[in-house]
Amino acid sequence: MTENKNVKDLKRDELGVFLRDRGIPYASRNKEDRLVLASIAEKRNVPLKSSVDDDLKTIIEERKKKMVLEDGLIKLPDPVKMLAGWEKTFINFPNTSATDVEDYIKLCAENHNVQTKGIKSTKEGESLYLSGHVTGVEYHRISPNISYCYIKAIVARQKAQTQAPYSVWIILHKRTGKVENAYCNCPAGLRGHCKHCVSLLHFIVRQIEAGCNKACTSKPQEWHKPHAQGKRVTQPDFVRNLVVKKVTGRFDTTPEDLKKREINQDWHLTLEQFATEKKKHC
Ligand SMILES: [Zn+2]
Repeated sequence: MTENKNVKDLKRDELGVFLRDRGIPYASRNKEDRLVLASIAEKRNVPLKSSVDDDLKTIIEERKKKMVLEDGLIKLPDPVKMLAGWEKTFINFPNTSATDVEDYIKLCAENHNVQTKGIKSTKEGESLYLSGHVTGVEYHRISPNISYCYIKAIVARQKAQTQAPYSVWIILHKRTGKVENAYCNCPAGLRGHCKHCVSLLHFIVRQIEAGCNKACTSKPQEWHKPHAQGKRVTQPDFVRNLVVKKVTGRFDTTPEDLKKREINQDWHLTLEQFATEKKKHC
């Protein structure tokens, strides 16, 4: 092992390994030069540099830990490997509030000793959300028996927008809306509160505040409100003043007519088309 030998006893290749492990460039150097560099590194106690493989291993392990909840009782599947079951509608979003998000960011910042206490990522995340960097938002209920769900998105980079965007996923508690964990594949994403994670959290909260996770029947009635285009609401009047017009036109009565009518009904829209239409009204 090169570590147990004195650098003076090392061969050219061994010196290369010694230098590589300490992150010192050596490739074009001859043995003498390598020996000089290695001696200096030894004198200065230059620490071993963790290899890329080690770094990657750590990221994979830390990422896996994010899917383990309730002291190890729950192990969620990897969202990247879940190919089916993603919903593009927001109707099943849990009721995550701005306070839930604040609490989560605060806790993350404390756990990672972040000096800015998450204020910086909160501001930057909001700015990313407001400038439309969050796209491709999808929800996954994981399983009806599991209290958690995933929401994932693609978040465009703030500066190098021509480069690949980041993938973000968030775990929320279905009933309480509490933010359990988050991950982003940017360099700071392992902490779970980078600006990309926060931008998706802002997106979720805004959608919920707009009522997009409520069925139409559970929303307060809105018939008294003026039409969106500024038209006046029809004023109340006496029944005696109502004019009943006779219905004109042909009724579909034959089986063929009924079949034709069925085909034209709205519920033959695909779920995706339906979601797009619904979003316009939220
Ligand atoms: Zn990120």
